Amino acid sequence: MKRESAGLVETQCYPISEEIVLEHGGRLAWATVAYETYGKLNRELSNAILVCHALSGDAHAAGWHKDEEKPGWWDIIIGPGKALDTDNFFVICSNVLGGCKGTTGPSSLNPKTGKPYGLDFPFITLKDMVDAQKRLLDHLGIDKLFAVIGGSFGGMQVLQWCVSYPEMVRLTVPIATSAYSSPQQIAFNEVGRRAITSDPDWDNGNYYGGAPPARGLSLARMIGHITYLSDESMHQKFGRRLQGKTEFGFDLASLDFQVESYLSYHGDAFVKRFDANSYLYITKAIDYFDLTKNGTLSLAEAFKGTRTKFLVVSISSDWLYPPYQCKEIAEALSANDIDVRHCTIRSNYGHDAFLLESGQMNYTIQNFLSRRSVGDVMIKEVVTIRQGSSVEEAAMIMMTEGITHLPVTDEEGKLVGIVTAWDVSKAVALKLTLLEEIMTRNVVISAQEDPVEQAAKRMNEHNISALPVVDANHCVIGMITSDGVSRLVSVCR
Ligand code: SAM
Repeated sequence: MKRESAGLVETQCYPISEEIVLEHGGRLAWATVAYETYGKLNRELSNAILVCHALSGDAHAAGWHKDEEKPGWWDIIIGPGKALDTDNFFVICSNVLGGCKGTTGPSSLNPKTGKPYGLDFPFITLKDMVDAQKRLLDHLGIDKLFAVIGGSFGGMQVLQWCVSYPEMVRLTVPIATSAYSSPQQIAFNEVGRRAITSDPDWDNGNYYGGAPPARGLSLARMIGHITYLSDESMHQKFGRRLQGKTEFGFDLASLDFQVESYLSYHGDAFVKRFDANSYLYITKAIDYFDLTKNGTLSLAEAFKGTRTKFLVVSISSDWLYPPYQCKEIAEALSANDIDVRHCTIRSNYGHDAFLLESGQMNYTIQNFLSRRSVGDVMIKEVVTIRQGSSVEEAAMIMMTEGITHLPVTDEEGKLVGIVTAWDVSKAVALKLTLLEEIMTRNVVISAQEDPVEQAAKRMNEHNISALPVVDANHCVIGMITSDGVSRLVSVCR
């Protein structure tokens, strides 16, 4: 299918009416969450996907803003025909609490003073950010997410979602991320912060109305940018090529190399779109993020309440969030018997690959999102008949309920057999009256965690069109039919 754009989009605002009490005791009144949505929420409210953005991201994940030259930051995977297919899914992305792109942060007006918060903005954590997203979902009427997905700092929010609201998420995709900030990640964040706070224009966070700490913020961005690339991608992109000259300048004021010019350009561009205090608050929240609560829990313990299925994606050349951190996440989930797949994107792009590797990202994520298990598609309201009943009773139930397959259960609800319309005809022909005389005792069954493909194969092999789904006690909890499977296949193309 052709991949298309989500089209023209606008950022919306959700004003939170209640005061927010933050994890570390601070309070925020009149906070606003900026967000965008793509696609339509279905009638069952079951197709919502929350996208969590990285450090310098915002709510504009896909499509185009009027008069802008670039699409949203994750346009490669959001839109019709893409992994987050907006013909099927309702995709939501919001700017994080503490941000500067529409959601309340240090540059917002403090209602108490009428001036920007600056350093009066309270400390926020990843949990606070996720709580604000949860309020947005409440506002949109969504009580269960089909999936939550994000890379880098966005991946940390994804993991926090599974810990804070495990019952609200069906599928989870953390990418190029970690369950806690490593010393190296903290170190780079601190250097970035120091660049900002040592800029005299920072003025203790009180620069609004005057010149922002442009030198400090652009330096922080330049440092960050280096960590998002890889040695190999820098060789490929810049080599030792000179910028606008054929010989070295032998002066300290001008730039010689393309890589210098590139970093300088991106540092300056960042100053125009990002607030320095937001950079300080968000990177601090990232540093504090640690699902092991400073080592008082093992990672496996941290994920204990988690119930969703996971696709953990790492990037081979990522040295900022190296693949071993994703492996740790996958192993901790496996230790809890959670259904987890860990895959590594082969790329030279470094950490940024999740924003660039369109083919691999679409393929991997699309495969994961379209995977269904029997529990996802089975009929849950199953009609059964108690053993010892008559053929006539079975025929009556089939007729009134409009069904052809009737599981037979004992007094504890355990499956003991199955009768079908075919068996009832046999009873009529042979003048049999007892269910036990016609039911099949050796029932072919399925479990709710079985992949749908496996159930379909089993039906095919036995030439039957419905399988009772049973739990660990052999009690009937659902029914999967070949009709249901065909409908699913047609939806998933
Ligand atoms: N066309 C039928 C269908 O839709 O399932 C299959 C034909 S087969 C001759 C009918 C027999 O399969 C019946 O005796 C019925 O009890 C048995 N049957 C149906 N579902 C079954 C299941 N899940 N496991 C075992 N036997 C089953």
